[in-house]
Amino acid sequence: MNFTIKNTLISVADSYVTTDVQVVDGKITAITPNLEIIDTEINGDNKLLLPGFFNAHTHSSEMWQRGVIPPLPLELWLAHLYDFTPLNTEQVYLSALGTAVETLLSGGTSVVDHLVLIPGQELETIATAVRAYQEVGIRAFIAPLIQDESLSMGIPNGESQANHEPYFRSLGETLAIMEAAVKQFHQPEAGINILVAPTGIQLCSDDLFIGCIALSNKYDLCRHTHLLETKAQEKLAEEKYGCTAVQHLQEIGFLNSCTTLAHCVWLKESDINILAQTQSTVVHNPLSNLRLGSGIAPILKYIQAGVNVTFGCDGASSNDSQDLLEAIKIGSILHNLTEPDYQYWITPRQAVKMASLGGAKGLNIEDELGSLAVGKKADLVLYDLNNLSLLPRTDPIGLLVLGRPVNVINSAWVNGKQIISNGKITTINIDELRQELFNRSHWETQPKSANVDKLAPRYRQVMGLN
Ligand SMILES: [Zn+2]
Repeated sequence: MNFTIKNTLISVADSYVTTDVQVVDGKITAITPNLEIIDTEINGDNKLLLPGFFNAHTHSSEMWQRGVIPPLPLELWLAHLYDFTPLNTEQVYLSALGTAVETLLSGGTSVVDHLVLIPGQELETIATAVRAYQEVGIRAFIAPLIQDESLSMGIPNGESQANHEPYFRSLGETLAIMEAAVKQFHQPEAGINILVAPTGIQLCSDDLFIGCIALSNKYDLCRHTHLLETKAQEKLAEEKYGCTAVQHLQEIGFLNSCTTLAHCVWLKESDINILAQTQSTVVHNPLSNLRLGSGIAPILKYIQAGVNVTFGCDGASSNDSQDLLEAIKIGSILHNLTEPDYQYWITPRQAVKMASLGGAKGLNIEDELGSLAVGKKADLVLYDLNNLSLLPRTDPIGLLVLGRPVNVINSAWVNGKQIISNGKITTINIDELRQELFNRSHWETQPKSANVDKLAPRYRQVMGLN
């Protein structure tokens, strides 16, 4: 679809201008006032146009457990999550739709789904998520979540010697699944990208990381992993490697300019330098870090060291939503607590840039996406500045980031294709999605978790909680 947005507000330097924006064949072809209308006119009066944001780390299928897991630290929260009934592909489909829709309705046009795979149906799981994302039309970066060590290995041993069950799937099988997924689904031009994504040092061997590096090099894939989300993982890295996790990942060659690292809460100064040197990207998931008590990631230090930082919602059972604007707000102002020098605090404009260009940079596509520029792909979001939550008229970006924007998106496009029009998703039937989510769930309170009961004593002992 070709179109011309007339008289929209865009941000320039420290202010705003009213202009026209032309999109032809999925790309921005002109940004200047008084453009001739090509094909369709979009009314940009009293609206703000921004590049689409990246929801740079989530796990779509956690939508089925949102709101239900009690307050627990990551290691026990994860044990609780493992206790739920395994998913089926229909659930994977619906939660991918739901994740895409909530991301779009909060300003995101790209999602990085660190996708939990159904055991024995791994490729079907990926195919299902691909189908859902293509139906909605969001740009998708599917990062199949893989590991080769069992859950109990994610907790440090401390003084004791724990026995661990072997993981159910061999390393060879896991890598073969990944390669098959790349061959079948990796189509960047069609808006579907596959990433290599070992879940993290806590549950992955070096051989798995090295196998992922080989696939990434062979097929030119981005890399994604969780990194030092909790204090327990910092201890575990010391036990496992005798050095920090960041040092180890650098040594084995996992870190580079297309690597995005979710969380990064427990890094040392020397680790920060490594991230800067390797040009790795930090994905900040502030709500999940708060919900699980993981800690406050030293984001201002990363920024000062020149490390690229962007935002993620993380899975919907550790957040428990997929509102990207909320993650951006909390992820910006949270750090005012940790840094007395207000000159380093994240400004709303900086936050918007981190969420858009920062996301594109982490996925090695900053030449194509992440800002309003002629020649870039048209992943765009048009905000309604007449919305009550964005009134009265002050600084639109200031209010968008620091306020509590509600239903503020008028239109959104991915690759020039309109996905939201007049505040409504146009590509799928939202009423049907709501009905399906309702019908396939039931009201529930916090069920007891056998896994938590099993792991809690060791966790409490190792973390000095007894
Ligand atoms: Zn995560």
